[in-house]
Amino acid sequence: MIQTIGLTKEYGDFTAVRDLNLHVEKGEIYGFLGPNGAGKTTTILMLLGLVKPTRGEARLFGKTLMEDYFGLKRRIGVVSEVQYMYEEMTAWEYLCFFADLYGVKDKVKRVSELLERVQLYDRRNEVLRGYSKGMTQKIGVVRALLHDPDILIMDEPVSSLDPYGIKEVRDLIKEENQKGKTILISSHLLSEVERTCHRVGIMNAGTLVAEDTMDNIRTRLVDEVEIEVELETANPKIVEALSGLPFVKRTQLNGNILEVSTSPDKDYRLDISKAVAAAGGVVVGLNRKQMSLEDAFITITEKHISQLTGKED
Ligand code: ATP
Repeated sequence: MIQTIGLTKEYGDFTAVRDLNLHVEKGEIYGFLGPNGAGKTTTILMLLGLVKPTRGEARLFGKTLMEDYFGLKRRIGVVSEVQYMYEEMTAWEYLCFFADLYGVKDKVKRVSELLERVQLYDRRNEVLRGYSKGMTQKIGVVRALLHDPDILIMDEPVSSLDPYGIKEVRDLIKEENQKGKTILISSHLLSEVERTCHRVGIMNAGTLVAEDTMDNIRTRLVDEVEIEVELETANPKIVEALSGLPFVKRTQLNGNILEVSTSPDKDYRLDISKAVAAAGGVVVGLNRKQMSLEDAFITITEKHISQLTGKED
């Protein structure tokens, strides 16, 4: 649905985006991540035809914007990092204006429904100048959804929102995705990306340094997984039984909690509970500790930075 082939942007002798090959499949929510200055916004602007690539191309629905500029644009909804609003208009007037531009059928119903979804229907007759940053951001999300686009491209869609607003927009994103929309989200809020996205691409210094599902990104980086086994009653027989299993690397008992480190190739919780039962014990709870996306992000980008520094030495 969204594809870039060797996409590159140079500003003088500085390369903002380097030979980028991105693939966002139909129906997925793709998290586009990277530290400040990594090249995410430049990439998004190239996808939207707002910045001209130095080399390479971007394709949406298999076509370049050159092939069908207006046809493609009509099928995309965009939430930009900074919202430019007509501040003298009320939220209602502003959204109806865009609904008319997009030729939205049943405009009143559509605008009302979306405003209700982000809890702003009751404030619809206030001018946008008086809106808070978070409210403005929600209006930006609503505007992007008005014409029911097939692709949604969102640059920092929840950066100014409070926890309620984040949940509203998250639910909206998930709902739109379930209806079939393909969504690319660029965000620094990694816990949010972790909850919403199916796959992520991590950029650093203009280069895509990782692109995979969340689970694969995590497991690629760890050489063991820790499972906390809460036992009804701990006893040495259980510890001995678990320590002897081929996939167990280490065990440590803290009260009734047995910490078991296993190899990362598989989820061993079922094997562990069977082994506890065979040793006469009862499992009360099992918790598989996972690397957070934040840990993975830092590990991946730091590794890339040290590779770059290594090359420069
Ligand atoms: P952030 O997370 O801070 O928004 P980003 O990943 O979106 O960062 P970009 O805005 O794409 O990063 O910027 C990538 C690099 O390109 C930065 O070093 C930036 O200074 C540079 N850059 C962007 N636009 C221009 C421009 N018009 N002229 C020169 N350099 C630019």
